[in-house]
Amino acid sequence: MAGLYVEHLALLVDLDRLDQELIGLRAEQRDVPKAIAARQAQLDGLIAEQERVGALLDTQKKTNRDGERELELIERRSARARKRLDGLFVSSQIEATEKEIAALAEQKDEVEFAVLEGMEEADALAAALATAQQAVLDGQSELSSVMSAWAARSPEVAARLDELEVAQKQVVPKIHKDTLRMYMVGLENRQNTQPRGITRSDGINCTMCQTDLPVRWVNEARVGEGVHACLGCKRVLVGKVLEED
Ligand SMILES: [Zn+2]
Repeated sequence: MAGLYVEHLALLVDLDRLDQELIGLRAEQRDVPKAIAARQAQLDGLIAEQERVGALLDTQKKTNRDGERELELIERRSARARKRLDGLFVSSQIEATEKEIAALAEQKDEVEFAVLEGMEEADALAAALATAQQAVLDGQSELSSVMSAWAARSPEVAARLDELEVAQKQVVPKIHKDTLRMYMVGLENRQNTQPRGITRSDGINCTMCQTDLPVRWVNEARVGEGVHACLGCKRVLVGKVLEED
């Protein structure tokens, strides 16, 4: 048969249901904007990386253009020297011009090699830039979808929190103050990882912290003959009967 404390325990079950939803929604209200800010910061990092790679590519392209211009210059000088050679008869002058042509050819090889390397470097940077740009685009699209989802969700959360707070204010005064105090001790127990004011039993184990409970308490909680708090987690023990409503 139902004991004296059935109503006390039933009200705690109601309050717990409200509190658990409140705790979850408040966490959502606190954590989602933080996650959005973190994503924004991450995106800023991706944008900075894109700009850094873009600047490196611009510098490399300029270096490559300078190298190509230098090559043209060398070729022009070399063509002039060859033309001059055709009109020369004095052997010392021929020898000097041939040396000049050989030196220019050597210089050309060096610059050509540098330009080829520079072009490879520019290709690698262009590929890195494309990757960085794609990462920015992906980041922007993820951020905007998270933000628009939260813009739709947050008013729902706020409205539901208001409803729950009203319901909580209606339930609390109905609860006996000693019972409520015991509930609050369990709910606010900092040793517990999950904030919760009630627990249930599985055999003689507390389902929240696995501490053994006195058999008498388990029986009394089941039929509402007593209000007991688990010795481990300090949560109020409510019976199985109440779990099933
Ligand atoms: Zn416990």
